[in-house]
Amino acid sequence: MNSSCLFCKIIAGQIPAKKVYEDDHCLAFHDIHPQAPVHVLVIPKHHWESLDAVQPEDREILGHLLERTAHCARELGVANTGYRTIINTHAHAGQEVFHIHVHILAGKPLGRMVSA
Ligand code: AMP
Ligand code: ZN
Repeated sequence: MNSSCLFCKIIAGQIPAKKVYEDDHCLAFHDIHPQAPVHVLVIPKHHWESLDAVQPEDREILGHLLERTAHCARELGVANTGYRTIINTHAHAGQEVFHIHVHILAGKPLGRMVSA
């Protein structure tokens, strides 16, 4: 728990979120400013500032996070039509919240590539 982190506060229940999935290690909730008809964030309960902060010993929990991301996409009903997953890291990717999170974007054709 990082007391100045928005997503740690959501995990702690101090800030409300529209939850999609929760277990001991991760939480998924709807993005407050959706960029697609379905826009969900999947976060680990452990506070890592970004993908750049993870270490080899974190592989198991991060594997769980990715597997649960796929689970959430199925539960949201978007797995068959498809979805995009994004992890923004640091300034050039536009990272705004410094607690690692996987975006799930879905619900319409998203184009072939992210903009560059
Ligand atoms: P990023 O730019 O990858 O750091 O994405 C941060 C995401 O968090 C943005 O898509 C925001 O809309 C979203 N966000 C910020 N505050 C909240 C909140 N209180 N609840 C849900 N999503 C949020
Ligand atoms: Zn945090």
